[in-house]
Amino acid sequence: AKNEAKGEPCFFDDEMDAAERDRRTLERDMRTAIEEGRIDIAYQPIVCVATGEITSVEALARWSEPDRGAIPPDIFIALAEDCGLIDELGEQILRRACIDGLAWPEKLKVAVNLSPRQFYSGMLTDTVLRVVEETGFPAHRLQFEITENLVIQNAAEAFSQLEELKSHAIGISIDDFGIGYSSLSYFQSFSFNKVKIDKSFVSELDHSKAAKAIVQAVVGLATQLSMSVVAEGVETPLQRQMLEDLGCSHLQGYLISRPVSASAISAMVISEAAL
Ligand code: C2E
Ligand code: CA
Ligand code: CA
Ligand code: CA
Repeated sequence: AKNEAKGEPCFFDDEMDAAERDRRTLERDMRTAIEEGRIDIAYQPIVCVATGEITSVEALARWSEPDRGAIPPDIFIALAEDCGLIDELGEQILRRACIDGLAWPEKLKVAVNLSPRQFYSGMLTDTVLRVVEETGFPAHRLQFEITENLVIQNAAEAFSQLEELKSHAIGISIDDFGIGYSSLSYFQSFSFNKVKIDKSFVSELDHSKAAKAIVQAVVGLATQLSMSVVAEGVETPLQRQMLEDLGCSHLQGYLISRPVSASAISAMVISEAAL
């Protein structure tokens, strides 16, 4: 598996089991899709509770092949991480999001997910600034979403790269908060702009006292630290009501909108402005 890490092509041999063969065919197809710029993006609106307006959209990578159908991003992002393609893919997604973002009103921010691996090369900030300059998309309209896993490996290094991005007015959100290896001490090391409460808490909200208490605690913490709180995975009017009552500042989920095309986002903000 050594040559995979360097992103070199993989070869088949007779010893390989079926699962490994499938993985490698998928990898080969993904490599081609990236080279041909066929990885797409869907955007999901995030609305402000106070105004009801769309304040940002989250860029979500999409890939489908005629014979395979849609491959879930969880699968192909992990694959890109494993075979050394994540930097290239990440840059492609960022560039596309910046170009799409130029068509939307200035007040609309664009959130892009970053894989922890994109911090490994030490080139992330350079890449981001180059893409921002090449596309002309203002850095202050950009937000990155990172998961807590990032910090585990090398906290000092991770936080210093985040500081650098932040110094260019790029927003940093902590994603999927509360699952995985979250540590409250991260908030002592870095001031995030946003906390995104994982959808697993939101889906439990109407029947779990614990989920409600957790959301309440996160909102309290966020308020004290001047972070906004986005609840993810809002699917029902009851969840929406509860999250508003608990003081979440922003909502995202199928109840508001599924992830949609860039032009559908344009249509949404135009009809919003007409209200
Ligand atoms: P995530 O960053 O937590 O993204 C939110 C996921 O929740 C998305 O899944 C979105 O479609 C889904 N979602 C949104 N609203 C609802 C809802 O109301 N109910 C339910 N059940 N789900 C909802 P998606 O698009 O399948 O992406 C899965 C994960 O793949 C993302 O989770 C993120 O970790 C990763 N991912 C997607 N695009 C990228 C990317 O460009 N770069 C990186 N590094 N990771 C990405
Ligand atoms: Ca995210
Ligand atoms: Ca999330
Ligand atoms: Ca997630």
